[in-house]
Amino acid sequence: MNIEKTLQKMSLEDKVALCSGADFWTTKAFDQYGIPSLFMCDGPHGLRKQENKADMLGVNKSRQAVCFPAEVTTAASFDPDLLREIGNAIGQEAEQQDVDMVLGPGVNIKRNPLCGRNFEYFSEDPLLAGKLAAGFIKGIEGTGIACSLKHFAANSQEYCRFNSNSVLDERTLREIYLKAFEIAVKEGHPSTLMCAYPKLNGIHCSDNKWLLQDVLRKEWGFDGAVVTDWGAMNNRIKAFEAGCDLNMPGGSAYMEKQAIQLVKDGRLDEKCIDDCVRHLLKLIDRAESTRMTKQKADWQQMAQAHHLLAKKAAEEGIVLLKNKNVLPLKENESIVLMGSFAKQMRYQGAGSSHINAFHVDQPIDFFDSAGYAEGFHEDGSTDEAMLKEAEQTAEKADQIIIFAGLPQKYESEGFDRADLKLPDGENALIERMVQTGRDVIVVLISGSVVECPWADQVQGILYAGLPGEAGAAAIADVLKGIVNPSGRLAETWPYLYSDCVSSSYYGKTKDAVYLEGEYVGYRYYDKAGVPVRWPFGYGLSYTQFAYADLKTDGRKVSCTIRNVGHTAGDETVQLYVGQNHPTLHRPLKELKHFARIHLEAGQEKEVSFVLEDDDFALWQDGWKVADGSYCVWVGRSSVDLPLCTEIVISDQDEISAPEWQKDSWYQTCRGDVTMSDFEAMNGIHYVPDHPHKGTYTMDNTVMEMKQDAWIMKILYKAVEKTIAKGFGGKADYDNPEFRMLMASSAGSPLRAMMISGGMNNNVLPGMLEIANGHFFKGLFKMMEKNK
Ligand code: BGC
Repeated sequence: MNIEKTLQKMSLEDKVALCSGADFWTTKAFDQYGIPSLFMCDGPHGLRKQENKADMLGVNKSRQAVCFPAEVTTAASFDPDLLREIGNAIGQEAEQQDVDMVLGPGVNIKRNPLCGRNFEYFSEDPLLAGKLAAGFIKGIEGTGIACSLKHFAANSQEYCRFNSNSVLDERTLREIYLKAFEIAVKEGHPSTLMCAYPKLNGIHCSDNKWLLQDVLRKEWGFDGAVVTDWGAMNNRIKAFEAGCDLNMPGGSAYMEKQAIQLVKDGRLDEKCIDDCVRHLLKLIDRAESTRMTKQKADWQQMAQAHHLLAKKAAEEGIVLLKNKNVLPLKENESIVLMGSFAKQMRYQGAGSSHINAFHVDQPIDFFDSAGYAEGFHEDGSTDEAMLKEAEQTAEKADQIIIFAGLPQKYESEGFDRADLKLPDGENALIERMVQTGRDVIVVLISGSVVECPWADQVQGILYAGLPGEAGAAAIADVLKGIVNPSGRLAETWPYLYSDCVSSSYYGKTKDAVYLEGEYVGYRYYDKAGVPVRWPFGYGLSYTQFAYADLKTDGRKVSCTIRNVGHTAGDETVQLYVGQNHPTLHRPLKELKHFARIHLEAGQEKEVSFVLEDDDFALWQDGWKVADGSYCVWVGRSSVDLPLCTEIVISDQDEISAPEWQKDSWYQTCRGDVTMSDFEAMNGIHYVPDHPHKGTYTMDNTVMEMKQDAWIMKILYKAVEKTIAKGFGGKADYDNPEFRMLMASSAGSPLRAMMISGGMNNNVLPGMLEIANGHFFKGLFKMMEKNK
């Protein structure tokens, strides 16, 4: 397609129309210009192609696809090449299923372990998250299929996800929350990027010119298309000006008439629309070329091969957290498996990434002669009879392997977790089995951190995350020693939720105020001196690795790693950098490089890293490298760093200490961070958003407004009743699907209801008037014809 010629031929109306989708998953076709439609679908760890009833929450059925491990597990591989293979495989499946664009990967930072979507994000560390996402993007884009890096930006909580406001300082944004995107964009070159629901410092991401133009396009050189998250479009006019190209889902013609009128009146530059159209035509043109060259692969053969890749990915991502000489299992030992997960394992998360898996392995099928006791129900509860039965079964065994973890209703897109606890019944089973005096091994299945009060009493702990459809086979091979565990934690495991820096305020208010600044994950625990259960980067192996011979040659740092055990294994060598006595407060150390290597027993390898300016840089009104001395550590986790050297940097930038810094929380991270620390550091006065009658806008939700607006109370009840119909008439808030559906309808702003509901009339704006106390005005508005 000749993009410029096509653009010239298009009418203004058609250009504007192209910039919103046709329906839930497609863009509009314009035969008169030779523009075909584009088909897109989720997701980050496998395809969710819906052919009939569409939704953004994974509720309605999709076509079969291979379910790879969720990012929580693949992140623990510390292996961008593995992510590239997975991306490639998903690209092949997309091609096979006539999908042009895949919505993923998600690269948001795990700011707090309660975030309901942490399972589909990579890490608390931006370098790791960015490198893994870049690997995935290269893999998928290499097949000619487009992907969409999401959710841009600072979208790390599910509470009020559709209209919260992320409030944070630019340094934190640049060094942590944008950094992962920056790496993924610059190294991965995704065709598209999805802008997030929440506002960023008061401005919707879809309208945010600074974010989408200045940072993304001008600074990072992004030349693809920006797509909204489903229903994230705020103001189509501002969004055109900001360079937000495609409004999804389609079907509503949201604010299109105004956009056209403003162009005609000379108040909106047509060039903004042309630029969006150019980006979309480029995307569509590439999809068209991919379609022309594609060869239909045999689905069964492809899926079988991808199932094996899913197993390999799970193997690389399973983390051995504790091993008191109980693993690998010995051949002649008798084993009993416990926990309902041993028969029906959770292997993926709930929400838009939910896949109709090709073939799901179950743990029980890999232990032929093992006994079994359920121990707890699917929802994690137990009773005395179950515990007794478990005790009796345990009498016949040398070792007890308990498959424990979070039931699906505990974590999902759409809401954050209530706490970090496992269900009581699971803890009770583990504690009862400890009392039998037998060896107890716990296999943990969860999308994020859980508190493990029994960790000191059991003999073995294996963390599998959400390991995908072949996860059970991978777990079995690790337990049996067929595979040597090699995963490393991409997220710190605290002892208790209250140890997390943001535990007293995260997810409690509509606005997400990032009081802790850049002290997220190990950056906080390290500096505050808070002990953790398992640190970032940690994971055991069935062999041991010795670190030696650290050498520096200018900016090149090298060392040798030797496998000093008796088994071949993979080690993830991690390099951290920290400035000694910085003038501007900084984390003590930060991950700057990592390399996963394979070593046979007795083998030795040299590993080297070349440090760049970026590895020392910080943000103070621009990227700067502070003069001074830096420690460079190399080792096996963020706290186990046997090698250390010093690098001195001179003739770069002098960084000044800001006035507010003295006695500020950010200097030491000791005690609780306060709003005044944050305001002084950020240079703002924060005013919380308390919407009430008279001030409501299209950005408010039915849930918010029902507190003091009768019309919204009625609407809420109507929505609840309609959704309950799909759940046997019960408003079942215990069911994650029900909660998600409520959150995505009554919990989404009125403007998003208009977009997602495909509405192009005055009903909701009229109801808004009534909610604000203007009954007659509202009534007339509702009856008014669309302009
Ligand atoms: C999610 C996105 C997803 C989209 C389409 C949204 O609610 O936030 O991650 O890609 O729905 O399903």
